[in-house]
Amino acid sequence: MNVDDLRAWLASNGQPSFRAQQIRQWLDDGVTDFKQMTNLPKDLRARLASAFTVPSVSIERKLVSAIDGTIKYLYRLDDGETVESVLMQYKHGWSQCLSTQVGCKMGCTFCATGMGGFIRDLSAAEMLAQIETAQKDANVRVSSVVLMGMGEPLDNYDNVVQFLRMLGEEGGVRIGMRHISLSTCGVVPGIRRLMKEQIPLTLSISLHAPNDAIRSRTMPINRRWPIEELLDACRDYIEATGRRISFEYAMIEGVNDADEHAQELADRLQGMLCHVNLIPVNAVEGKAQRRSSRLRIRSFVEVLEKRGINVTVRRTLGADINASCGQLRRQKDQLTKRKEALP
Ligand code: SAH
Ligand code: SF4
Repeated sequence: MNVDDLRAWLASNGQPSFRAQQIRQWLDDGVTDFKQMTNLPKDLRARLASAFTVPSVSIERKLVSAIDGTIKYLYRLDDGETVESVLMQYKHGWSQCLSTQVGCKMGCTFCATGMGGFIRDLSAAEMLAQIETAQKDANVRVSSVVLMGMGEPLDNYDNVVQFLRMLGEEGGVRIGMRHISLSTCGVVPGIRRLMKEQIPLTLSISLHAPNDAIRSRTMPINRRWPIEELLDACRDYIEATGRRISFEYAMIEGVNDADEHAQELADRLQGMLCHVNLIPVNAVEGKAQRRSSRLRIRSFVEVLEKRGINVTVRRTLGADINASCGQLRRQKDQLTKRKEALP
């Protein structure tokens, strides 16, 4: 619930609206037990306690990179499920990568999260709690957020949009939409819905291939919404919002990293208000994929640049702590399975 929802609930229970702010204040101070909210009438406290729960996320594991200070959390949710989140320090401040689901339905072949299947959606409160827990633990203020952790945000649309609206609320964590990126594997109806919401975030599209043949092999969602349908939605998004789109492109050796692929990609993106972010693919245990060599990436960049496409190569952070999505949770699962297998 955001503060407006809470006000509406209070009104329908015959309570003045200023109670919403009081409750919010307690929650922000870390008090999640309604009985302890001593400036509220006793019967209201009891009614709140029976109507609501406040989800928490606790730290199950924490890894700190010796190379660059990146912090990776494995969070435990109230039902015992786990999700990952990463805190990264940039010149402009701390950025946090959040999960939106436990697992993911999309099954991209290069992704550790996709391997484990889907368990459940996260609530808006669980997304917010990932930030609050990290801020408290690391004693930092998070100034930007990327929805690039576990899960497909547009497959959990309502909770994600509710979360985005709560981010800017007074008394909350107060992060402006211009400091938010949302990454999607290409859920076209979700992109079309999002463009009408008037939320000025940065949309990232996980493209990862220049044509349908390669993309359908690595990203099953492409069989449902092929590249041209996806790019049509992107063009409409840019027109509706005036905002540049960022295309993520994981460089996988021998799969999508040839100069011809760069040419094909340039053909497709020609004239679009966009930016291409090349990501050397991360190795995932149990998968044969390898990242492209630096030379190969350099050559790919040159082709795109010659064609006038705006391109950067993503810096790798947290290389020593498995800081990419889904890896830590998988390790934990495998460890548990190994333990269970012992006599
Ligand atoms: N489901 C959303 C957001 C979470 S994944 C999406 O797919 O966009 C965040 C990003 O990490 C995506 O661009 C995804 O394609 C990428 N990714 C997944 N596995 C990866 C790997 N092994 N190496 C590099 N990037 C990976
Ligand atoms: Fe899901 Fe994104 Fe991983 Fe694909 S890359 S399986 S959409 S989390």
